[in-house]
Amino acid sequence: MPDSKNIFLFSEGNAGMRDLLGGKGANLAEMTRIGLPVPPGLTITTAACNYYSSTRRFPDRLMDDVRRALGEVERAMNKRFGDPARALLVSVRSGAAISMPGMMDTILNLGLNDKTVAGLAAATGDERFAYDCYRRLCTMFGNVVMHIEGARFEEALSAARERHRAASDVELPAGALRDLTSEFKALIAGESGRAFPEDPFEQLEMAIRAVFESWNNPRAMVYRRINRIPDDLGTAVNVQAMVFGNMGQGSATGVLFTRNPSTGARELYGEYLANAQGEDVVAGIRTPRPIAALQGEMPSIYAEIARTCKLLEDHYRDLQDIEFTVESGRLYILQTRAAKRTAAAAVKAAWDMAGEGLITREQALLRIEPDQVTSLLHRTIDPRARLDVFATGLPASPGAASGEVVFDADRAEALGQDGRRLILVRPETTPDDIHGILAAQGILTSRGGMTCHAAIVARHMGKPCVVGCEALRIDLQRREFRAGDRVFCEGDVISIDGATGRVIAGEVPVVDPEFSPEFSGILDWADAVRRLGVEANADTPQDAARAREFGAHGIGLCRTEHMFMAPDRLPVVRAMIMAETAAEREAALARLLPMQQGDFAGILEAMAGYPVTIRLLDPPLHEFLPDVEELSLAVERLRAAREHGAAIDEADLAAKEGLLRKARALAEFNPMLGLRGCRLGILFPEIYRMQARAIFHATAALRRRGVDARPEVMIPLVGIEGEIAATGAMVREEADRVSGETGIDVHCPIGTMIELPRACLVADQVARHAEFFSFGTNDLTQTTFGFSRDDAEAKFLGPYLEQHLLPENPFAVLDVDGVGQLIVMAVEKGRKARPDLRIGICGEHGGDPRSIEFCHRAGLDYVSCSPFRVPVARLAAARARVRELVQETAPRGE
Ligand code: PEP
Ligand code: MG
Repeated sequence: MPDSKNIFLFSEGNAGMRDLLGGKGANLAEMTRIGLPVPPGLTITTAACNYYSSTRRFPDRLMDDVRRALGEVERAMNKRFGDPARALLVSVRSGAAISMPGMMDTILNLGLNDKTVAGLAAATGDERFAYDCYRRLCTMFGNVVMHIEGARFEEALSAARERHRAASDVELPAGALRDLTSEFKALIAGESGRAFPEDPFEQLEMAIRAVFESWNNPRAMVYRRINRIPDDLGTAVNVQAMVFGNMGQGSATGVLFTRNPSTGARELYGEYLANAQGEDVVAGIRTPRPIAALQGEMPSIYAEIARTCKLLEDHYRDLQDIEFTVESGRLYILQTRAAKRTAAAAVKAAWDMAGEGLITREQALLRIEPDQVTSLLHRTIDPRARLDVFATGLPASPGAASGEVVFDADRAEALGQDGRRLILVRPETTPDDIHGILAAQGILTSRGGMTCHAAIVARHMGKPCVVGCEALRIDLQRREFRAGDRVFCEGDVISIDGATGRVIAGEVPVVDPEFSPEFSGILDWADAVRRLGVEANADTPQDAARAREFGAHGIGLCRTEHMFMAPDRLPVVRAMIMAETAAEREAALARLLPMQQGDFAGILEAMAGYPVTIRLLDPPLHEFLPDVEELSLAVERLRAAREHGAAIDEADLAAKEGLLRKARALAEFNPMLGLRGCRLGILFPEIYRMQARAIFHATAALRRRGVDARPEVMIPLVGIEGEIAATGAMVREEADRVSGETGIDVHCPIGTMIELPRACLVADQVARHAEFFSFGTNDLTQTTFGFSRDDAEAKFLGPYLEQHLLPENPFAVLDVDGVGQLIVMAVEKGRKARPDLRIGICGEHGGDPRSIEFCHRAGLDYVSCSPFRVPVARLAAARARVRELVQETAPRGE
């Protein structure tokens, strides 16, 4: 990259330059531009990082440019980098375009060496402060740049604390810190074989290189994968003049949110530590004080912070997460960014900000991630339960979770893969624990505040989390913790309540959530803008009622096979399967009919006024018979007993032999591609006819009572025009018949699922006989890829994803390139043949926000998903429409 500009002073950039300067750099520039007290500095671009990642070299003359830009910073600060008499110290921090909290590295106090530290001590008259900075530099530099384990420094520090009987680092005297610095440098030289660099520019160059390299450290890569952040964004590097929160009692450092990031309440929310550097707050080593306490301690600073928060929120029109430092009574703002927040906070803040006129309703909808709101639908502890609360910490991320105690992330990951439910218990978490946090149901730490790593990450993931629970004495070696006189070992079950901070022995009873008025309001806004309808997949009146409560306007898929599985039905279903003649089969079906009629009546009534799409029987019949191996074992056993002269139940043996014969006769090598779906209806028309009669009689009975029952009948797995023609005709005949019998017109739309590539290819032919299409994308994905939906995820999709052969699990997120093309084709062909064809989706993708966005763009009429996903789908559908509107109204060329 020969001539591009690799470095921007904060005074040269602005918030719009996020891609090039990273979020942190762009915001530092923006704050500088609007006149906030930001220490001066420079940003090395993400493009320079990308150049380094691909060539392992700095762009030409990068360090010369750094020196030149640093000269400007020196002038502004009236200090010089490396000058013992008036040493400028700098921080070096990473900052990508998309924030990745704690995932990459930061180094503070760069520029200190044996000479400048003495100068700093003399200039400030505070030797303790100078060596405090120096030992911190050695730790961070040793850890981040020279790759020495952080714990080695921590061990030495705690030994020093013990030697000096200091309860915390703040009580260590200057001499102790000086000794520690020497100890750290010896450790660095011993472990890395290279001395700590005394030359400040060498420090700076090494630090910049380390930050570039941190873009590809394992935890950053995992974080990007989880959060779907592209690998080629790169990180910018911010080099900023240091200001000091550890310059004695008039100094402090803190982290602050302009609104409560847990609840969204309009209050300043955060914490600070007096006489500390920023890392102390986020590292969770000392437990900070709530920001409200600053009002008493430094009232004018508190007032200035409050004014700044208002200004930043008004400017960015979003909830901000701010880092500040007070150096000897003077406030500096070190960072602002859009705050990570819980779903509850996202909803409340978006609602309130729209009410305050800061943002529009459409913008409010874009502020809430649909996937995140699933946590609002999560459970809380039943308030009537008697709880064995043995400790309380800070409520860092709401929700209730129970699980076995586990003390390290690797073990959590391993146990989690076995399907165990876990609570990860740690003194504090670090970004290296990310895989354990991911595997656990909840996180509990004994140290740290609401802004510590565990809290931020858990909130983002929507996982219950309690931090700073100081009553816990954790012994990682023995894998146990004590709380008062109680001991909990690895494997013991505990629960946490992330909304109140309670820690409870044993499993807890939970209750389903209720919507907050703000969430209901936001969903009403969503309903007002979305074009896609939202229906639910529901097979019981209870599910139908819940779906309705969540705002579903109909049932897009009512599977009927579950109704055949109930214990009172199965013997009748088996008799139907075992029937040798059509007459025998019809006799069994006649017994099933009233049961089915009752099922349908319940669901149609629960969804009265909205369409209920009932799918006729789909799975292969052998699924209703016992397992062949078990049956043959049972038969063998009975026969052997008889041979040994034992008295056996002959009728039972005969029945089992009959079942076995039938099960063997029905067995298929590829049942998913076998006798199932509409093929059943073609071979055993009595089954579909019985189901149709049950639907229509239920409808007639309900309508007679004045209930607005609206059934639609859906035929599964159609791939050939004749299949839908034949089965559709059967259903219509039954509608004619029941209408005649009851005197009530029960004719209803008859449509098909589109689950086979061939159905998409001949969608025009299929549409001649179908009044609606519903994409069964579970099967359509299976048949398009030729991936077994029952085996692929366990057998090979993991490695496929790791090797980037596929961007996503196609059973979770719709494969737009392949399956999506088939859908687009089927929509086009189907509508050409039947312009008023109603089209929806009812595979699992119908509840996935990105797939929903695709459905919107493909012109579908509705999505159908599980009841708990309905609010997510309502929001996702609205966001898809808002984004489309934004594009439609954007000026040309944008
Ligand atoms: C589908 O295939 O997408 C579908 C909804 O049907 P099922 O999952 O019941 O096969
Ligand atoms: Mg299917």
